Amino acid sequence: MKTIETEFCIIGAGVVGLAVARELSNKKKKKIVVCEKEHKVGCHASGRNSGVLHAGIYYTAGSMKARTCVEGNRLLKSFCRSKRIPMVEKGKVIVARNQQELDTLHALYQRAQNNGVDAQLINEKQLADIEPCAKSYQEALYSPHTATVDPEVVMQALYEDCVNKGVMVLFNTPFKNFEGQNTVIAGEYLIKFDTLINCAGAYSDTIAHTRGLAHHLTLIPFKGIYTKLRKTTRIKVNGNIYPVPDVRNPFLGVHFTANPYGDVYIGPTAMPVFGREQYDFMKGMSRESVSIFYKDALLFLKNKSFRSVAIDEPKKYIPYFFFKDAQGLVEGLSYTDIEKTTKSGIRPQLVDWDKKELVMDFSVFTDSNTIHILNAVSPAFTGSMSFAKIIVDKYCI
Ligand SMILES: Cc1cc2nc3c(=O)[nH]c(=O)nc-3n(C[C@H](O)[C@H](O)[C@H](O)COP(=O)(O)OP(=O)(O)OC[C@H]3O[C@@H](n4cnc5c(N)ncnc54)[C@H](O)[C@@H]3O)c2cc1C
Repeated sequence: MKTIETEFCIIGAGVVGLAVARELSNKKKKKIVVCEKEHKVGCHASGRNSGVLHAGIYYTAGSMKARTCVEGNRLLKSFCRSKRIPMVEKGKVIVARNQQELDTLHALYQRAQNNGVDAQLINEKQLADIEPCAKSYQEALYSPHTATVDPEVVMQALYEDCVNKGVMVLFNTPFKNFEGQNTVIAGEYLIKFDTLINCAGAYSDTIAHTRGLAHHLTLIPFKGIYTKLRKTTRIKVNGNIYPVPDVRNPFLGVHFTANPYGDVYIGPTAMPVFGREQYDFMKGMSRESVSIFYKDALLFLKNKSFRSVAIDEPKKYIPYFFFKDAQGLVEGLSYTDIEKTTKSGIRPQLVDWDKKELVMDFSVFTDSNTIHILNAVSPAFTGSMSFAKIIVDKYCI
């Protein structure tokens, strides 16, 4: 077994792990090692998401999501510009289907104001100028600063930037266990560290547990699948068309997103699944699946908002229900306008078992020399660079 001595050891080369590594190197920290279990970056949430750089409308003022999303949007856009990464900068509209959703739309407008985010209530004529095919009940909310990127391209650029700054990224190097306070076994390596930062996404809870932290919290997986508009469709989407979300749960609903290559994806769903990496219907289940099923069942009984997700979302495996969701957002969408895709992603969502509630914000646990980032859910892709600054300034300097 090879031994490495380092100042910082980061577990996970997702967007959060790499953004933290980059921020540490910006702060002139010299010895930074990132351990990644896969053979490349972006194999999980960070490479499989919608690629939307959110503006910060949805999140409760003062929350970590709100703070990091607003600044993160600016930082990630500036990174993309500096690396000449293509972006679709056509903003987004959130559309309402009825009076109740219109009321929520107004509440979202208020949240945007509280977060200092530029968002405008627009009428149907203004909506038609921005997104000619979108439909809304009386008004819509327009977010000019929302943008879209290819997340895999961003991940590759972030990885190259880290390596150029001297970060050592070890692929095929899964975290195995801690050996005492300052040593970790990962893949073929014994790594002695001053500070360890757990950014392991879907497995971050299990690593925190081995350190004796956050035992009342575990992650459960929600799968998102996508369809896309056929090239032959007459439906036109310039930027993003989103529904009014149910603000009691952390998912934003099936939406239309135009990517930098001219494709328009529709999704993602948020279906409870029984494997942390269950991208295919059966593949990705493990011995842990029984315990995830049990947790889902318990939450189903105890938590009303999870119950509604667990009932509504799996229906969307049936194309008719998926289509119905999409149809509510644009005028004249027909069944033949959309086609299946293989794109899917899994959102690991933290649950507090003392309260039987989904945790809504990012969550950080520490002990004397380890930092554990749990629940880096959406918009953590957008907010990654800002979140990394907070982690480094608060815990690593
Ligand atoms: C379908 C979907 C759509 C989304 N859309 C958006 C969006 O439009 N905009 C937005 O801002 N956010 C979006 N998100 C959320 C965003 O993708 C995540 O918040 C973000 O990618 C989380 O990054 P991460 O680094 O924490 O996790 P990950 O990307 O999962 O990275 C964790 C890394 O740790 C590695 N790892 C795990 N266990 C170990 C171990 N034991 N040893 C070593 N390495 C390990 C994994 O292989 C992985 O590479 C979406 C997410 C999904 C799933």
